[in-house]
Amino acid sequence: MHWADVIAKELMSRQDSNLISAGISPTGFIHVGSLREAVTAEAVRKALEDKGADARMIYLIDSYDPLRRCYEFLPETFEGEVGKPISHIPCPYGCHDTYADHFIKPFMDSMDGLGVNCEIFWTHELYQRGEFAETIDASFKRRDQVMEILSTVTGRTMPEDFNAFSPLCHSCGRFSTTKVTGYEFPYVHYVCQCGEESKADIRRGEGKLSWRLEWPAKWKIFGVTCEPFGKDHAAAGGSYDSGVRLVREVFDAEPPHPIPYEFIQLKGKGQMHKSTGSAVSGVDALNMTPPSVFNYTILRVNPERHIDYDSELGILDMVDEYDRIESMHFDGDATDKEEDLVRAYQLSQPRGVRETKPVQISYRHLVNVVQVSKDFNDVLETLKRTDDMRGISVEELKTLEQRVACVKYWLNAFAPESVKYTIAEDMPDVDIGAEESHFLAELLEQLKGCAWNGDVVHNTVYETAKSSGLGAKKGFQTLYRIFIERRNGPRMGYFLATLEKDFVLARVAEAVVKD
Ligand SMILES: [Zn+2]
Ligand SMILES: [Zn+2]
Repeated sequence: MHWADVIAKELMSRQDSNLISAGISPTGFIHVGSLREAVTAEAVRKALEDKGADARMIYLIDSYDPLRRCYEFLPETFEGEVGKPISHIPCPYGCHDTYADHFIKPFMDSMDGLGVNCEIFWTHELYQRGEFAETIDASFKRRDQVMEILSTVTGRTMPEDFNAFSPLCHSCGRFSTTKVTGYEFPYVHYVCQCGEESKADIRRGEGKLSWRLEWPAKWKIFGVTCEPFGKDHAAAGGSYDSGVRLVREVFDAEPPHPIPYEFIQLKGKGQMHKSTGSAVSGVDALNMTPPSVFNYTILRVNPERHIDYDSELGILDMVDEYDRIESMHFDGDATDKEEDLVRAYQLSQPRGVRETKPVQISYRHLVNVVQVSKDFNDVLETLKRTDDMRGISVEELKTLEQRVACVKYWLNAFAPESVKYTIAEDMPDVDIGAEESHFLAELLEQLKGCAWNGDVVHNTVYETAKSSGLGAKKGFQTLYRIFIERRNGPRMGYFLATLEKDFVLARVAEAVVKD
């Protein structure tokens, strides 16, 4: 059984209705691995829904986290913003209302296509609405108990002046520089390094719980029954362990069923965006991987297994596997071992599984088609020549357009040079020897009457090169030189078939040396 179904069954045996929580801290560029949490949570929600169970998902944006330091990518002036909540800091580049918006908005827009069905909450708004007041109050009233739990779980001695709550200074706007001096509901008295001495109202978001308490407080506030989180939090003595005791003993609620997940690692060289020079971000991954394929990449393995995300050639293999499993779903010929992959495919569909098998145009093939086409209409024309596009529906056209957009993004940003080429519009200035010319002349005759599809053209080129005495390798090289000014390139027959036949015949004819 697929792991999402195993978890769904476990949850159903515990309670009738379930709330799955996921979230993100947008304090900087968002790594591709952050998407694993949302996709994992959504798979469990969907698995519950498929079984007729009541399930909801929430997504928490930790917009009240402080800026911890002035990162290299920030202007130097941001030194002055350190210690303030990212919902209160301006966008570093002037294009959004706040710092938090700058990093989260493009990410959320890209995530839209994945079909994550959740209600979104911003932590700073929860604080401002007083949602945390009860748990903050409990953290103060049971301070000794909180300290005992934290020191037992972490094995660390707690400082005398420990407080689970940091007031937000009214004067300088920082959490990091205040010190609590007293508490009576709803006010926390504090002094700040800036000289301010005042009180913070816990019902108005004038301060924040520390991470170890904020997490279980969220479980209590929403009644979370299941939550995926990075495996670093799951380590012995980590924040899940302390959260379990804190939520039970201090907040009187039950902890969620945990789904610790491994990280997504970027694989291979060249993981850098060709123009921005930064590593593959969550937004990049979504721009070059079709949404259902991205979901599948995550759902095909157990959460505790790590995933290599290969933004170079590996992406082609991944889409090929996805297409293969899609066929299995519709043809019903999966082996027992492959059943879980088919289930992963079903859970990966952003808008549910289609009724009929869609037209499949492989990503690998599109890499060539896109490079010989001017725009999407041109892509369609090329595909009509080389592939079976009969009866393609409007929905399939949209999916195809999305795949084409991903291929284009990949070619521009991450594809290795070896797969890139441009068609020489005019005959390149290359020397053609007598043997090569002889081969080209024969090929011209053969191609004239040849059906224009990849397999047939490929075999024709191969056989002609051999029979002409030049050999397949040199024959292919000759053709690459006259079409793309290189000595290697995409699979010959399929490549030629994506070009217009008249164009190919004219170029070959032009290359034949006349004596
Ligand atoms: Zn911005
Ligand atoms: Zn201050």
